[in-house]
Amino acid sequence: MDCIFCKIINKEIPGKIVYEDDVCLAFLDLSQVTDGHTLIVPKSHFDNLLEADDEVIAHMLKVAKKLGNQLVEKLNAKGMNVLTNINETAGQTVKHFHIHLIPRYNEKEGIQITFEDRSSQVSLDEIYDKIMK
Ligand code: 5GP
Ligand code: ZN
Repeated sequence: MDCIFCKIINKEIPGKIVYEDDVCLAFLDLSQVTDGHTLIVPKSHFDNLLEADDEVIAHMLKVAKKLGNQLVEKLNAKGMNVLTNINETAGQTVKHFHIHLIPRYNEKEGIQITFEDRSSQVSLDEIYDKIMK
């Protein structure tokens, strides 16, 4: 499969690997949205979180905590965004499941996640019913 992250996992192309075990690998994201921007990827290929194995996901979240603390300690980060994109609609560009760890040092960095308040335009009851029916 022509997958750039599988190639990094298989050491076919280089990556700045900061963590590795039997289940997953973590390496520095090339873009470095902020210093220490890291990706955690499963060694088995899943397209995204919704396709991935439950135990693998649980393990990766533990690794996210461990590495997150390491980034805070070593880089003096003041906070962190932990996120995963699913499909192009949500901004996914590499179709191999990955968790972004984006250390934050201030509020004016190159990542902006804003939540628009649409509560006056939608019905919570209608949406709830659609999900639960
Ligand atoms: P996505 O947009 O799919 O959530 O994130 C993909 C990320 O992979 C991007 O932040 C991008 O910078 C990173 N990336 C893409 N290709 C490579 C690569 O070859 N090496 C590394 N280290 N990161 C990559
Ligand atoms: Zn892959």
